Amino acid sequence: MTNSTITRQLTAGQLTGQTDSHLVSHQQHLLHKDMQPAFVSLQQAAADAGFDLQLASAFRSFDRQLQIWNNKFNGIRPILDSHCHLLDPDELTVLEKIHAIMRWSALPGASRHHWGTDVDVYAANCLPQGIQLQLEPWEYETGHQAEFSVWLNKNIKRFEFYLPYAEDRNGVAIEPWHISYYPLSQPLLKQLTPELLHSTLSASQIAGKSQILTNLDSLYSKYIENICEV
Ligand SMILES: [Zn+2]
Repeated sequence: MTNSTITRQLTAGQLTGQTDSHLVSHQQHLLHKDMQPAFVSLQQAAADAGFDLQLASAFRSFDRQLQIWNNKFNGIRPILDSHCHLLDPDELTVLEKIHAIMRWSALPGASRHHWGTDVDVYAANCLPQGIQLQLEPWEYETGHQAEFSVWLNKNIKRFEFYLPYAEDRNGVAIEPWHISYYPLSQPLLKQLTPELLHSTLSASQIAGKSQILTNLDSLYSKYIENICEV
C-alpha cells in the first residue's frame, strides 16, 4: 500500500459512527484500516516488553453510543462522578446530568471510538485471575495495570499513538487506557464540526436533545476539543 491510498478524511456517516466501511477486523474488534499496521507494531513492542496488550474496546457505533447515553440519562445505567462514586440522577438538573454523563461518556456522533483510530487497551497478563477490568483510573495509577501504564506512556509515541485524556482538563475525566493514532485522529477531529454534530443529533432519538442542542457549542469546547496535545 502506498501513502496515497491512506484515508485521511472520512465521510460524515463514518465520522459519526453510522457506517463502518473504513474499518477492518482485528482480534474480534474493528479498527481503522490505516491504523491497524501501527497497532500491530505497538502490540509486538508490548509483547517484547512482557505485556500482552489487548483491546478492551475499539470501534463503537453511533447506535451503541446512543444506547449507552440514553441508558445513563434514563437511569438504567449508573452515572458516576469524577471519583467513580454513584450520582443520584434525581438530584441533578437536565444540564447537570448531561455534564455528568459527558465526564465519562461521549455524545453519540462525537465518540472518538467511531473513527476506529482510538482504542482502550490493557495488559491481559497483568489482570489478576477472576478479576474483571473496570476501566477506572486507579487500575492504571496504582493497581494491576500500573506497570503497563508506565510502559505505555513511555513507548506509544514511537508508534504515533498518544493519550488524549492523560490529564484532567476539566472536560473528559482521566482515561489512561484510551490511546489515539494521531496521524489520522488529528485531522478527523477538525472534520467533526459543531455543525455536523448538531445535524447528526437533531436527526437522532437522543435523550435530553433540546438541552444538548441549546448548549452544544459549550459542550463541544469543554469535552470534544479540550484534549491533551500530542
Ligand atoms: Zn476510550
